[in-house]
Amino acid sequence: MFELQEGHRMIETAMRQFLEKEVVPLIDDLEEGKVLPYDIMRKMAETFGLTEMIKARFQKMLKKEGKKSEEEESEAGAFGGPGFDPLIGTIIGKEIARVYPSLGLAMGATLGLAGGTIMAKGTPAQKERWGLPILTFEKIGAWGMTEPESGSDAFALKTTAKPDGDYYILNGQKTFCTNAPYADIFVIYAKIDRGQEAKRDKRFIFPFVVERGTPGLSVSEPFKKMGMKGSPTGAVYLDDVRVHKSHLLGETEESARDQAKDVFAGERTGAPAMAWGIIERCLEVTVKYATERKQWDRPIGEFQLIQEKIARMYVHLENVRNIAFKHAWAQKEGKKITMKEACAAKLYCARAATECALEAIQALGGYGYMKEYRVEMLMRDAKLLQIGGGTDEIQILNIAKELLRAEGLEVKLGG
Ligand SMILES: Cc1cc2nc3c(=O)[nH]c(=O)nc-3n(C[C@H](O)[C@H](O)[C@H](O)COP(=O)(O)OP(=O)(O)OC[C@H]3O[C@@H](n4cnc5c(N)ncnc54)[C@H](O)[C@@H]3O)c2cc1C
Repeated sequence: MFELQEGHRMIETAMRQFLEKEVVPLIDDLEEGKVLPYDIMRKMAETFGLTEMIKARFQKMLKKEGKKSEEEESEAGAFGGPGFDPLIGTIIGKEIARVYPSLGLAMGATLGLAGGTIMAKGTPAQKERWGLPILTFEKIGAWGMTEPESGSDAFALKTTAKPDGDYYILNGQKTFCTNAPYADIFVIYAKIDRGQEAKRDKRFIFPFVVERGTPGLSVSEPFKKMGMKGSPTGAVYLDDVRVHKSHLLGETEESARDQAKDVFAGERTGAPAMAWGIIERCLEVTVKYATERKQWDRPIGEFQLIQEKIARMYVHLENVRNIAFKHAWAQKEGKKITMKEACAAKLYCARAATECALEAIQALGGYGYMKEYRVEMLMRDAKLLQIGGGTDEIQILNIAKELLRAEGLEVKLGG
C-alpha cells in the first residue's frame, strides 16, 4: 500500500522524461514571465493522450446524468470518483513539483479549483460549456475567492451579484487569483445582493462563471512575487458585469459555502504531493553534493552537521510520502479525510517543504544561494504552501477547533 506499483513507476518515469525535455529548458523564461505555462499543460495532455480520453469519458458521463446508476458512479470516477486511481494524480503532482512547482500551481488552479468547482456544482450544460474546455486545457480557468479585505476570513467577501430579471449584475474585486491575468473562464464567488441583511450574511456565497471579454470584467497585470513566478497571479475587477442567470453554477440560489469548503479541503490534500516533490528533489541534490563537495580534503558528507541535515530531510520525506499515500488510499476507498486530518497534513507538509529547501540551500553553501542548483527556487516556491489555500495559522486553528468541538467546546476561528 505504501509503495509505487510498476504502473505508477512507468507514469513517474514518463512524466520525468517529459518534464526534463519540455520544462527544464524553459525554466528561466518561465520565471521571467517570457513564457507562460499553458502551452506546456496542453502539450502534456496531448503527449499522454489525455484530451481524447477526457472527452470520451465526459460524453459518457453526461449521457448517464440523471440515471444515478452504479455504472454512472464509476464513470464519474474518471474525474476523481471511486473508479479512479488517485495515486496517479499524486505522482504527476509530485513529479511536476520536483522540477517546477509553479507549473503545478497554475495547473491546480485551472483544473482543480476552477474546473473542479464547475464539475462539482454545475448543471450538465454548464459542465459541458465550461468544465470540459478546462479539463482538456482548451481554456484556462481561474478561481476567485480572495478579496483585498478578505483572505483567511474568506466568506467575509464583499463582491455582490444583484438580481435583475434573468440576469445578475456583479460588482467587486478579487485578488491573488492564480491564472487571472490570462484566464478564459473565471469562477467568481459573490453574495446575492437583496438588501443589507443578505449582504451581511456570511453563510450564503454563490459561484458565478464569467468569461473573458464580458463587458465590465478586467484583470490586472501579473503581480511580482517572491516565488511561484511561473504561475501568473493577479486581480480581477468586476464593474457592473451582467451575466445571464445560467452563469450561476447549479442555476439555483443554493449556497456554495460547503462546496467552497470542499475546494479548500482539496487544496489542502494537494499540498502533500507538492511537498513530496520539493523535498525529494532537495534531498537528492543535497546527498549528491555532500558526496562531491570537498572541504578540508574530505567530502562534506563526512561532517556530522551535514549528515544531520540529510537525515532530517529524509525523515520529512518519509512522513510526507506516507501522508500522500494515506490520502490517495482514503480517496480510492471512498473514505472521508476529516477537516483536522487535511489541515494537519497541509500544515506538516508545507512546513517540511520549506524547512528542507532551506536546509538544502545551507548544505550547498554559496552554491545553494545561486540559481544553478534550483534549491533557492524550490525554497521560494515551498513558502507559498504555508500561505495559499489557508495559512499555517488557519490550519492550526481548524485542528484545535475540531478537537475542542468533539469535547463540547465551540470556538471561533476569528477568536
Ligand atoms: C501565489 C498565491 C496564489 C493564490 N491563488 C489564489 C487563487 O487562485 N484564488 C483565491 O481565491 N485565492 C488565492 N490566493 C489567496 C490565498 O488563499 C490567501 O493569500 C490566503 O488565504 C491568506 O489570506 P491573506 O493573504 O489575505 O492573509 P490574511 O488573512 O490577511 O492573514 C495575514 C496573517 O494573519 C494571520 N491570521 C489571519 N487570521 C488569523 C487568526 N484568526 N488567528 C491567527 N492568525 C490569523 C494569517 O495566518 C497570516 O499570517 C493565493 C495567494 C497567493 C500568495
